[in-house]
Order: sequence, then C-alpha cells, then structure tokens
Amino acid sequence: MNIAIVGASGAVGQEFLRVLDEQNFPIDNLRLFGSKRSAGQTRAFRGKEYVIEELTRDSDFTGTDIAFTSAGAGTSKEFADVITRHGTLMIDNSSAFRMDDDVPLVVPEVNGEDALNRPRNIIGNPNCTTIQMVVALKPIENLSHIRRVRVATYQAASGAGAAAMDELRHQTAQLSRGEEPTVEKFKYQLAYNVIPHVDVFTENDYTKEEMKMFNETRKIMHSDIRVSATCVRVPVLRAHSEAIWVETETPLTTEEVRRAFGQAPGLVVMEENAEGEKYYPMPLFIADKDPVYVGRLRKDLCDDCGLSFWVVGDQIKKGAALNAVQIAQWLLANDPRLKN
Ligand code: NAP
Repeated sequence: MNIAIVGASGAVGQEFLRVLDEQNFPIDNLRLFGSKRSAGQTRAFRGKEYVIEELTRDSDFTGTDIAFTSAGAGTSKEFADVITRHGTLMIDNSSAFRMDDDVPLVVPEVNGEDALNRPRNIIGNPNCTTIQMVVALKPIENLSHIRRVRVATYQAASGAGAAAMDELRHQTAQLSRGEEPTVEKFKYQLAYNVIPHVDVFTENDYTKEEMKMFNETRKIMHSDIRVSATCVRVPVLRAHSEAIWVETETPLTTEEVRRAFGQAPGLVVMEENAEGEKYYPMPLFIADKDPVYVGRLRKDLCDDCGLSFWVVGDQIKKGAALNAVQIAQWLLANDPRLKN
C-alpha cells in the first residue's frame, strides 16, 4: 500500500508510525506531511528516514491509497479535497466530518461494515473517549439494549496533543523547584489538579467533548442510546479512564456481562492480580497497550437494570492511531476495492 500520514510530527502522527510498524502493515511507499513548522524535518520508519513535506493546496496525492490524517479539524476541512481528489481514502482523526451523514464513523469491533459505504472516500475515526467506551458497550448491547449511559471521564494530558503532555511534565518539574508553573495549553494548572472542562462549552452547558460522546455513540452503535457525560482532564500523561453506569432494557447479571466482556474483541477484563487479589486497570500501566481494559464490574445499587464498571484505554493508540489502522486492516480484509 502507498500510505501518507498528515500531521506526522504530532502525538497521533508519531503513534501512527509506531502502530503501522507494530501491526506489520504492508507499506510500499510512505509520505509524511505537516505544516511549515515541521516541513523539512525527518522521521524514521523501519530503518529509513523520511522527510516531512509541507501540506499545501498543490500537494499531489496521486497513487496514495490511504492517508491517515491527524492535523486538527481545520486542516482536515481545508485539505480533504486535495487529499481525496485522485482516489485516496482519507481516514481522519479529527472531528471535522464525524457527524456528516455521508461519512462513516467506525470502530471495527462495533461497526466495521459501515466503512464499506463511504461516498466521499472519507472515514471518520471517532473521538478517543467514545472509542474506548463503545468497545465495552457493544457486548452489553448484544445482551440487552442499552437505554442510557452515565459516564465520568478521567482524561490524560496527551489527549490535547504532544505540547500538552510536555506542559504537564514541565509544570510538575517547576513545582518541585518551587517555581510558578507555566500555564498555556490548559486553562488552569493541570499538575496536582483536575479540570472538569475538556474542549469548549456548548449552549446546553455541556462541553463539545461531552456532546461528542452523546452523538458519536449513537451514530457508531446505530442506537437511540442516550449518553450523559462529564469529561475531566486529570494529571495523567497517557491513557484515558472512564467510570461508566449503564441502564439496560432488561436486567443483566454481572456473570453474563463478565462472560460477554471476556469474549468481546479488543476488550480485556482485569479484576484480579496474579495473587488473586482485587485488581483494576490503571492508566499508568495501560499506556502503550493495544486493547481496552475493563474492571470494577458490579450491579448499580440504585437500579435493577443498571451496571457499573471502569474502562481504561490508551487514547493515542486505540483512541486514535490504532483504531484508524484497524479500519484500514478491516478494509484490506473485506473491501475488494482495497484488497491487494
Ligand atoms: P498535536 O500533537 O498538536 O499535533 C498536531 C499535528 O498537526 C502536527 O503534526 C502538526 O504539524 C499538524 N498540523 C497542524 N496544522 C497543520 C497544517 N495546516 N497542515 C499540515 N499539518 C498541520 O496534536 P495530536 O494530539 O496529534 O492531534 C491531532 C489530531 O488528532 C487532532 O484533530 C486531535 O483532535 C485528534 N486526536 C488526538 C488524540 C490524542 O489523544 N492526542 C486522540 C484522538 C484524536 P506541525 O508540527 O508541522 O505544525
């Protein structure tokens, strides 16, 4: 395959290079794109150095089979026609087209088939918090329809990009030296703090991140499910956590849900450590891992049809680069238009 990565210098772009290599993705030619800032820099892939090209309206994607784009919604909107006009499939990590009717929004474990219908040759990679949640919701939905979800997220600094991760490290070092911390990427100091504000506020007082969880979950799951989210930034470097409460149409036992979780693709149940003690997924130990991890499964004490559990996933991997690469792998296996 001839592959392009747009936003190659960023947190997600760098992860694309790692994931494509780890997944042994078949690549004949690779091109890297960025803005003026990183153009001319090089990045290594499979022992070879690649120069980042500046993305312009004159960039020529002829012959490129798939472009993985992670350069922000503005860049995706501005350059989608440049990228797709000669038949390149654009798998886009930004929020630019996710809710467009003619753009499928895909998590292969949940709705891989949706990727086959892509009239604009664009496939949306969902929001990271939504991806890890729907991987855990799908096996429950297979047992009984989920009516509603209440979720509180604990989102890592790196969800806001490479510079945000650097800011958290820098603030922690500054505070340990007794210095005033530099606050630029987040509205307030994140080190030793939590900020209940991810993305911008909307008219209904929810943030855009919270509304993405509502809207994207319905689109991916083809469901009338309602999701009420509170999204919180926490001083974790990498991997998002979520406390989730679901209400199903009929009551389910924890045993049957645990069994369904255990059989679900992309999901690992973590409830005990090697010594047989109670255990649970934590972002510190889940960072860099491929699957989504689920633990703390229990009945909701307030609701017979309710269940509560805890989900952790690496949002740069499964929440971004890995999910996009899995979409491409799914198409390679299932779409004659892309099969080698
Ligand atoms: P980031 O670390 O800030 O990187 C942004 C990338 O976009 C850089 O490579 C930058 O290149 C490139 N870029 C910016 N403007 C550009 C332009 N006009 N033309 C070409 N390239 C341009 O951000 P990130 O975290 O990787 O996020 C990238 C996208 O993925 C965003 O849409 C984000 O919402 C989405 N996403 C992020 C995560 C996450 O966990 N971080 C998860 C899911 C989705 P230069 O260095 O050359 O400016």
